[in-house]
Amino acid sequence: MFSIFCYLREFLRPEWWKKFLFVKTAPLVTPPHYRDFPVLTGNECSHELRCMMICPAPGAIEVLKNAEGKWEPVIYKGHCIRCGLCVEACPDNVLTSGDILSVNEKEKTYFLASYHLNVDDSICMRCGNCSVACPVNKEVDPQLAYTATSSSNEVIMRIKNSKLTIIHPEKCTGCKTCEEACPNHAITVARVLEGFQDED
Ligand code: SF4
Ligand code: SF4
Ligand code: SF4
Repeated sequence: MFSIFCYLREFLRPEWWKKFLFVKTAPLVTPPHYRDFPVLTGNECSHELRCMMICPAPGAIEVLKNAEGKWEPVIYKGHCIRCGLCVEACPDNVLTSGDILSVNEKEKTYFLASYHLNVDDSICMRCGNCSVACPVNKEVDPQLAYTATSSSNEVIMRIKNSKLTIIHPEKCTGCKTCEEACPNHAITVARVLEGFQDED
């Protein structure tokens, strides 16, 4: 009985009727850190397939020929988890999806994504397969593809003084081709995300 009285009292309040009749929902604003499904930017795809290699979601991305006979990545929304790795791995900026994991700023908080290469010297047999397979290395020193060796100090990693030496980890795109090429699973690529707070 008492609860019915409380309901009636609530419904008789003009404030309640005002809210009920002129209800307003919060405007739908996309936050700056939101990452959507990748979409095409219009840049031409060079068919390096780094997007497919890095994608952690099976069946989420495929590079196919479009109606004009040009290569184009296709995103399958039922499988894509919107991680954005394909966006970052693509050397031609063919895809875009917001930028939470590239250099980003929101309310004085900065996010910086990079890759850390780790070599387990106890199982690395210094074959150099990883440095030959790395697409960035091949771009920096085309000689690698023909001779399987490099003397350049601009590559990400190479055999130097009979040891696999990481020289420029900052050039790594995280495609993990080196991991796949290593017969001993001696090299691993880890994604590192750092956040900084600006005190000013
Ligand atoms: S956003 Fe992530 S899951 Fe989706 S296609 Fe790209 S790499 Fe794959
Ligand atoms: S993940 Fe490995 S293969 Fe890919 S760019 Fe980095 S070092 Fe090269
Ligand atoms: S492919 Fe593996 S074993 Fe060969 S040099 Fe690279 S890390 Fe070492």
